[in-house]
Amino acid sequence: MSGGDKLDFEIRPNPAPVSAADRAALLANPGFGRVFTDHMVTVRYADGKGWYDARVEARAPIPMDPAAAVLHYAQEIFEGMKAYRTADGGVTMFRPEANAARFADSARRMAMPQLPEATFVDSLRKLIEIDREWIPEDEDSSLYLRPFMFASEVFLGVRPANEYLYVVIASPAGSYFSGGVKPVTVWVSPDYTRAAPGGTGAAKCGGNYAASLAAQAEAIEHGCDQVVFLDAVERRFVDELGGMNVFFVYDDDTLVTPPLTGTILPGITRESVLRLAQDAGHRIEERPVSFADWQADAASGRLREVFACGTAAVITPIGTVRFPDGEFVVGGGGSGRVTTALRQQLIDLQRGKVADPHNWVHRV
Ligand code: PMP
Repeated sequence: MSGGDKLDFEIRPNPAPVSAADRAALLANPGFGRVFTDHMVTVRYADGKGWYDARVEARAPIPMDPAAAVLHYAQEIFEGMKAYRTADGGVTMFRPEANAARFADSARRMAMPQLPEATFVDSLRKLIEIDREWIPEDEDSSLYLRPFMFASEVFLGVRPANEYLYVVIASPAGSYFSGGVKPVTVWVSPDYTRAAPGGTGAAKCGGNYAASLAAQAEAIEHGCDQVVFLDAVERRFVDELGGMNVFFVYDDDTLVTPPLTGTILPGITRESVLRLAQDAGHRIEERPVSFADWQADAASGRLREVFACGTAAVITPIGTVRFPDGEFVVGGGGSGRVTTALRQQLIDLQRGKVADPHNWVHRV
């Protein structure tokens, strides 16, 4: 089957799924990323053949040759999104077509084939349908979906592989912040940068995250929750956090976020926040913010709130900013009015509780 055609998924139900009692026990306290559902999606790709063998099957280890290209040159991309349980027992996905588009962009950057966006969304639906019982019921929980693709060709040459495997797995996730929403402390890394112009910063490829781990470890050593990366050229402007985008809320009701110049990940939460803030009558600006201004404007009180945003934790206030020479607090260190309102609005939208004027919510 060629890349442009619609793929039909062969459904092979897991003959030995987890029992209802064991599943309930796992769902009582799933944490993050350790509990997995009964099934996975796999789709293969080969040059000349296109996408083929689309399946929903029992989740199982993937046999891999030691010379599989991904193990050597890291040709791998992924996505992260969630399915939510609604109050009426339904299930929603939030803007999956945006994840599909970003996945295709990541593929392009990493010289990989692009999975048709309709197949990407269909693959998520198929997995949710078969593993529906794994979606936690309570308010703060969700089913985390992890689509990914890697070079499976057995070849040690450095060139784009000609065989790939696309996979989707799912993992029930509890509340990201066990103690409720608490403002986080961030570490502004003096040594490490995340992405340079022309690099892979806008792609969701595994290598970006491998490269961020030493910086994140440094943040934790300094008692911080997350690392903030500055731009790689001048080390002056704020790019983003290790796994979230960042917003600044000023006293003139303007929300500012760094622009998409190729060095940050174009977050779907970021884009949604921009739209919701505009709908709510805030002014929005996509422009660089220097670390020096962040500090000066926090001190003068002109900067009222700063928050991070992403699929995992939705919107999280940033209370304290730490760096090698000291630290400062933004807006008294708590969760501000705008941050709290946007967070609630986004959560209500994702769970189908409020009107959805942008048609972002897919019912499954
Ligand atoms: N930046 C980085 C580096 C990320 O890993 C993520 C999480 N995907 C985000 C931002 C936020 O993106 P999204 O809102 O699409 O989850």
